Parts: sequence; structure tokens; C-alpha cells
Amino acid sequence: MLYEQVTQLQLMVDEFKKEHKSPNPTSKLIQNQQRKKFRGFCYKCGLDGHVMHQCTSEANPTLVQEKLCAQSEAGRQHKEV
Ligand SMILES: [Zn+2]
Repeated sequence: MLYEQVTQLQLMVDEFKKEHKSPNPTSKLIQNQQRKKFRGFCYKCGLDGHVMHQCTSEANPTLVQEKLCAQSEAGRQHKEV
């Protein structure tokens, strides 16, 4: 009796392993996107690599303004080419 139950359980585990053996390509893609480094900059302090709500630095409007100008400048150049 118990042996039968164990065999059934093992079959279920095998099925489970089969289902989870091939990784979902979609979830892999999402992982890659999350691993990608944040390319923007903070709108509060102007430093790269984090966003405003993660900011722990002091506000630097001058640097933010400079970055915004550089960004729109690059966008314009990109459009012309
Ligand atoms: Zn910041």
C-alpha cells in the first residue's frame, strides 16, 4: 500500500521535473532586461545608474539640466542622421 503511494508520488515528481526542465524563454528575456544596467540618470542629483526615487544624494539641478540638454542634443543629432 505505502509502496504504491510512494511510486505515485515519484511519478508526480518526475512529471513536475519534466515540466520545469525546459526554461521558459520569456522569463529568461525578462531576467536579461532586469540585469541590463539602467542607462538613464537621476532627475534629482543628475548622476547615472539610479532613478530619482532611489536617490540618496543631494539635489543638483545644474547637473540635471546639463544632462537633459545633452540628452536632447543627442536626440536631435540622431534624428538628423
Ligand atoms: Zn540621484
